[in-house]
Amino acid sequence: MSATRQLAVIFLGTRGEIDARSRQHLRHSSVMIERGGARVMIDCGADWLGRLMRLSPTAILLTHAHPDHAAGLTGGAPCPIYATRTTWRSLSAWPLCDRRVMPLRKPIAIGGITFEAFPVAHSLRAPAVGYRISVGRSRLFYVPDVVAIRNRRRALEGLNLYVGDGAAINRPIIRRRGQAAIGHTSIRIQLDWCKAERVGISFFTHCGSGIVNGDPRRIGQVVRRLGVERGVEARVARDGLRLVLDGRNVRCAGAARGFESVNPAHGRC
Ligand SMILES: [Zn+2]
Ligand SMILES: [Zn+2]
Repeated sequence: MSATRQLAVIFLGTRGEIDARSRQHLRHSSVMIERGGARVMIDCGADWLGRLMRLSPTAILLTHAHPDHAAGLTGGAPCPIYATRTTWRSLSAWPLCDRRVMPLRKPIAIGGITFEAFPVAHSLRAPAVGYRISVGRSRLFYVPDVVAIRNRRRALEGLNLYVGDGAAINRPIIRRRGQAAIGHTSIRIQLDWCKAERVGISFFTHCGSGIVNGDPRRIGQVVRRLGVERGVEARVARDGLRLVLDGRNVRCAGAARGFESVNPAHGRC
């Protein structure tokens, strides 16, 4: 398959909205999706303030307006920003020149990569989306903060990779607001979704204190076992981890530049 069908996914940050941080989970959750010359960054939390020039994204997409996903943009940005209409309402005062509206459930192409925003339950004040991302048969879903995905079957069908919310391993962190549920579901439940929709490989980002404060090897085993029980490969993502999707083939490509000391082992996830 030609290189133009490949997608690279670089985990720039994998920390959730918590005080704890570690070498593996140093900065707020964000990924860079690369294909050819396109470098599309998803989310830009407070930890990324002042670091955007060095990352030189060609576009930035937001999942929602919470500070751990958007506050890195309070000083402006060197590229177009895509966000839903409701997210833009929360960012009206920020010095962002090139504001583009991300439609819901309507795929758009950015740098030759297709993105489709799916609304997800997570927050009433900052309504969130997850992104279905594809180039040819290379398909993934990225949803760092989620209680439930609306139209989940359509969002996850035919995926090669699911990247989900690592805030809670076994017990969801959910509060009720009237009829609505807000917060974060568990890794366990997201793996049930992967099993139901036949997604074979999953990585978890937006790590909560259960992961960030834990022993990485032990936590890795716990998550892996939850996956094995459901026939799904399950891994905890780390800052700097680089994955390459080429159709159904998903491989670890070692550490991204600048992250070699965090992820020294080439090819190990
Ligand atoms: Zn978050
Ligand atoms: Zn959030």
